[in-house]
Amino acid sequence: MAYDFDLYVIGAGSGGVRAARFAAGFGAKVAVAESRYLGGTCVNVGCVPKKLLVYGAHFAEDFEQSQGFGWSLGEANFDWATLIANKDREINRLNDIYRNLLVASGVTLHEGHAKIVGPHEVEINGERHTAKHILVATGGWPQIPEIPGHEHAISSNQAFFLKELPKRVLVVGGGYIAVEFAGIFHGLGAETTLLYRGDLFLRGFDGAVRKHLQEELTKRGMNLQFNADIERIEKQVDGSLSVTLKDGRELQTDCVFYATGRRPMVDNLGLENTQVTLDKKGFVEVDEQYQTAEPSILAIGDVIGRVQLTPVALAEGMAVARRLFKPEQYRLVDYKMIPTAVFSLPTIGTVGLSEEQAREEGYEVQIFESRFRPMKLTLTECQERTLMKLVVDAKTDKVLGCHMVGPDAGEIVQGLAIALKAGATKRDFDETIGVHPTAAEEFVTMRTPVAG
Ligand code: FAD
Ligand code: NDP
Repeated sequence: MAYDFDLYVIGAGSGGVRAARFAAGFGAKVAVAESRYLGGTCVNVGCVPKKLLVYGAHFAEDFEQSQGFGWSLGEANFDWATLIANKDREINRLNDIYRNLLVASGVTLHEGHAKIVGPHEVEINGERHTAKHILVATGGWPQIPEIPGHEHAISSNQAFFLKELPKRVLVVGGGYIAVEFAGIFHGLGAETTLLYRGDLFLRGFDGAVRKHLQEELTKRGMNLQFNADIERIEKQVDGSLSVTLKDGRELQTDCVFYATGRRPMVDNLGLENTQVTLDKKGFVEVDEQYQTAEPSILAIGDVIGRVQLTPVALAEGMAVARRLFKPEQYRLVDYKMIPTAVFSLPTIGTVGLSEEQAREEGYEVQIFESRFRPMKLTLTECQERTLMKLVVDAKTDKVLGCHMVGPDAGEIVQGLAIALKAGATKRDFDETIGVHPTAAEEFVTMRTPVAG
C-alpha cells in the first residue's frame, strides 16, 4: 500500500524533531505534528528558559562577591518583567529556528493536535494522513496531586510566565524541578520555602551530594522543610495563600509551586484505536527498539518514561531514524553513564553510580572526597564550599561514579563522563595532569580514600 508519508511524528519536541530531521535527511518522506510549541518542553517550558532564569538568579551572588574584588555597585534592583520579556523573545527566536530546521530538512509541518485513528493513520485539523510508521513523541505534563485547593497552585508551565515575582514562594517536591526553581526564586529575592515529603531531597542522588546541597541551601537562608506534605490550600481575601500541612502546621505564602513529577502526555491521542499498551503509570510501553505493541507505531522520549532528559530523547530519536531509514548506522542507545546536572545554586553534576548504588550492586568501593572553599570566594565573605567525590571499584580500580556540588559542576562532569564511558580507572585519573588553578583539577588530585 502507498502511504502519504514514510514516517509521521507526533510531537515536535526534543525527540520528535531529531527523529523527523534525521529521517528526512536519510531520504524518508516525513511529517511532524505539533499542537503547542516548536521545540517542545525543553525549549519552551523546560531546560532553556529554566537555565536563563538560573543565570538571572546567579547575579545576586556575583554582585555581592564582586565587592571583595574592589567593586562597589549602587543598590542592585531586579525587574522580573524584563527578565521574562527577554526570555520570551529568545524562546520565540528558537521557535523560528526549529521551524526553519524542519522546513530546510524537507519535513512537512502540521500545526494542530494529532490523533491516531488507526495503526497507519493520523487525523489533524480535520484531515487524515496515512504513514508507514507513526512515532509518538508527545512528551509529558506536570502532575499536581488533587489535594483540596490544588487549583490555587501552579506548576513549572505557569512559573515561566508569572506576571510578577511572588514575595513568598512555597515549592513542593524534592526532584530536579523543585530544587532548581527554589534556587531561582530564592536567588531573585523571594522568601522561599522548599517542602519535601521525605527525609532528604533528590532521592537517588549520592548521599553526600544531597547532604552537601542541604547544608549549602541552609547557609544561603533557604527554608527547607523535610518530612512535610500539604493537606490543603486556601485562598485568603488579600489573595495570599494559607497552606495547612498534614502535621497541622499552617504556612502563609503568595505562591504554591508543585514540582511533583510529570505524567506522560497521551491525552486524546487515540491510542485506543491501536494495540499500543501503557504501563502502570500510563507511560507507553516499548521494547529496546522503541517498538510499541502495535507493529507500525514507535514511541520515544518522556512519553515512554525511561530517562526524562533532552539528550536522551535526542539519542532515542536518532536511533529510531537510523533503524527505520539507515539501518547500517543503527546502534542501540546505551543508558549507562548518562551524565546529568541539577541547576540548583550551587549546581550538582553527576555521572555513574552513587556510593549507595555501587554498594547495593555489590561493589567493594573506595571513596575519594574533597571539600574546599573555591578560590574565587577567598576574597569574599561567602563561606560556600564545593564537594567532589569519586566512587571507585576497589577490585578493578575503575571509576564507577563522579559527583560534584559547586560552580560549573555540569560543565565539569560532561568531560568526566567521556572518561567514565571509556572505562577510566582511578589510576588514569591520577596520571592525568591537572589544569591549574581550577576546581576541576581536584578530580585528578584526590589521593587518599576517605572510606572503603
Ligand atoms: P517534549 O519536549 O515534551 O515534546 C513533546 C511535544 O509533543 C510537545 O511540544 C507537545 O506540545 C507535543 N504534543 C503532545 N501531544 C501532541 C499531539 N497529540 N499532537 C501534536 N503535538 C503533541 N532536561 C535536560 O536534559 N536538562 C534540563 O536542564 C532540563 N530541564 C527541564 C526543566 C523543566 C522545568 C522541565 C519540565 C523539563 C526539563 N528537562 C530537562 C526535561 C526535558 O525537557 C524533557 O526530557 C524533553 O523535553 C523530552 O523531550 P520529548 O521529545 O520526549 O518531549
Ligand atoms: P522528579 O521525578 O525528579 O521529582 C518529583 C518529586 O516530587 C520527588 O521528590 C517526589 O518525591 C515528589 N513527589 C512525587 N509525588 C508527590 C506527591 N504526591 N506529593 C508530594 N511529593 C511528591 O520530577 P520533577 O517534576 O522534578 O522533574 C521531572 C523530570 O524532568 C525529572 O525527573 C528529570 O528527568 C527532568 N528534569 C531534568 C532537569 C535537568 O536535567 N536539570 C531539570 C528539570 C527536570 P519522592 O522522591 O519521595 O518520590
